[in-house]
Amino acid sequence: PIYLDHHATTPCDPRVAEAMLPYLVERFGNSGSRLHAYGWEAEGAVDIARARVAELLCAERDEVVFTSGATESNNLALLGVFQASRQARRHVVTTAIEHKSVLEPVRWLERQGCEVTVLRVPRDGRVREEHVRAVLRPHTLLVSVMHANNETGVLNDVAAIGRLCREQGALFHTDAAQTCGKMPLDVRALHVDLLSLSGHKLYAPKGIGALYVGPRASRGRLAPLLLGGGQEGGMRAGTLPVHQLVALGSACEFAMAEMQEEGVRLLRLRTRLLDTLRERLQGLHVNGDLDHRLSGNLNISFEDVDGELLIERLQHHVAFSTGSACMSTSLRPSHVLLALGVSEDLANASLRLGLGRFTTQEEVDATAEHIVRAVEEARLPSTRGNA
Ligand code: PLP
Repeated sequence: PIYLDHHATTPCDPRVAEAMLPYLVERFGNSGSRLHAYGWEAEGAVDIARARVAELLCAERDEVVFTSGATESNNLALLGVFQASRQARRHVVTTAIEHKSVLEPVRWLERQGCEVTVLRVPRDGRVREEHVRAVLRPHTLLVSVMHANNETGVLNDVAAIGRLCREQGALFHTDAAQTCGKMPLDVRALHVDLLSLSGHKLYAPKGIGALYVGPRASRGRLAPLLLGGGQEGGMRAGTLPVHQLVALGSACEFAMAEMQEEGVRLLRLRTRLLDTLRERLQGLHVNGDLDHRLSGNLNISFEDVDGELLIERLQHHVAFSTGSACMSTSLRPSHVLLALGVSEDLANASLRLGLGRFTTQEEVDATAEHIVRAVEEARLPSTRGNA
């Protein structure tokens, strides 16, 4: 099938895999070995990788903590800030559309007695400064609002939210798993204190990520989750997977050089896909704001369509994702689409299409044909033929 599920994961860029390979075989040293050239070589590679990640974020090298991915980065940010806080009353703010790797730690904090506010989101799916302002309290410890949502691709107004948090003395964390490497990121312009990223969303392998820790979040305000050999400045113990770090660093370098052009190309392809579908199909809804969205994302629903049949008809031709309940472990449609006020019927007939670096125009055109055919076949009997 045509791969259009780049929000779930991206293939490892062959150039990235090539950069990584020597560190699996010849250059296998432990970057913590201080006495010999194997260790020094690995340490040098780690330094370069760290510098590349930092550069992509406009951060300093010592502000990058390597982790196993965005799930771990999100857990470290939320649980780590909570653990380190000595405040008697603690309040944490997040949103209903976050990834589970934010929502589940937040639920855990609530069980520990932390006050929690989960913000509702408007229909366009964009979290703005005024939403956060309305719930901030003097004792708010941490605000966590994702940069772009992984289902709708909608971009939240994180720079303004970050500025507000800074003024009010709360720490600000953003989950940038979907935006890192896709659009320019500057941790200072965004006023973030903590930022999560994941390698496998930007053409590096799975199992590697990082947490940016800014000056306001360091110095005793973040406690580690993993204790041991004191790696990563004591913030995350464990022997560094040097090959993975090299891959992430390399992926960051390619992203930096190519993201602008890639973004323009993906936006053109997405627009072409949407225009074709709108021309040929009635009852198409775009879920979430279209103008503030990752260029490779399209999240659409169809009226009067049997969602299960639509998915069944399409899945062997196109690799996509859906907010449908029948694909969910919880038997409910996507919590993100429901939070946007999308009806269960429309959520069940939703397609998340994620275009990526290697997606071609031919694939997009073929996808449009497959979707048109699948939607027509899945139209509910009462409406079939009316369109
Ligand atoms: N946050 C967001 C927004 C995501 O899209 C993902 C990916 O599934 C994650 C966190 C989890 O990242 P990882 O797979 O690196 O743990």
